[in-house]
Amino acid sequence: MQTLSNAIQVNHCLLKEVVKDAKLLVDATCGNGLDTLFLARNTQGAHIYAFDIQQKAIDNTKEITREYAKNISYICDSHINIKEYVGNKSIDAVLFNLGYLPEAAHEITTHADTVIKTVDIVKDLLKTNGIISIVAYPGHDEGYNEYLSLLKYTKMMDKHIFTACWYRLHNHINAPALCWIEKQG
Ligand code: SAM
Repeated sequence: MQTLSNAIQVNHCLLKEVVKDAKLLVDATCGNGLDTLFLARNTQGAHIYAFDIQQKAIDNTKEITREYAKNISYICDSHINIKEYVGNKSIDAVLFNLGYLPEAAHEITTHADTVIKTVDIVKDLLKTNGIISIVAYPGHDEGYNEYLSLLKYTKMMDKHIFTACWYRLHNHINAPALCWIEKQG
C-alpha cells in the first residue's frame, strides 16, 4: 500500500482523530461539499458550520450532505464573518480548501488577504489541540500568492502557542500544499 499521498488525502487522514470527538467543526470553503461530508461522516456528534460565498456551492453541499443536515448550518457568506455565526464558541477544527469551484467561474476564488484575516480570527477561537487545516493550490496565480502569504504568516506564529507545519509532495509539479496549525496545550 502506498504511504505518501496528496495533500487532501493526508489532511483527511490526520483529521479523522480530531473530528471523532469534536463538538464544533467549521468547513470555511464548502464548495461541492466533499469536506463537509467527510466531517459529517467522521464525527460522532459535532455541529458543523459550512461556509461559502456562492449559493451554488451551498446548494451542492446541502445536496451531498442531506442525511446529516440536522447537524449542519449552511452559511452563504464569507468565512471572514465567522464570528457573526459562531460567536466566541471554541472550535475543534477549521478546514480551508482554497481556490475556486472546479466547474464554476475561476474568478470567484479565495484571496490571500481574506484567508489570512480569517485564520487570524479563528486561531483565537481554537480549543486546546484544536486544528486549522489549509489546502492551498500554488499552481494558479492567486493560489501561489495565498501559499506564499500563508508560509510567511505561519512562520511568524508564536511557537509557544501554536505549532505550524507544512506537507507537500516535493517531486510533483504544482502539488497542492497542506498547512496544519495546532493550538498547544
Ligand atoms: N471544500 C470543497 C469541497 O470539498 O468540494 C472545495 C472548495 S473550493 C476549492 C473553494 C471554495 O471557496 C469555492 O466554492 C469558493 O466559492 C469558496 N470561497 C471563495 N472565497 C470565499 C470566502 N471568502 N468565504 C467562503 N468561501 C469562499
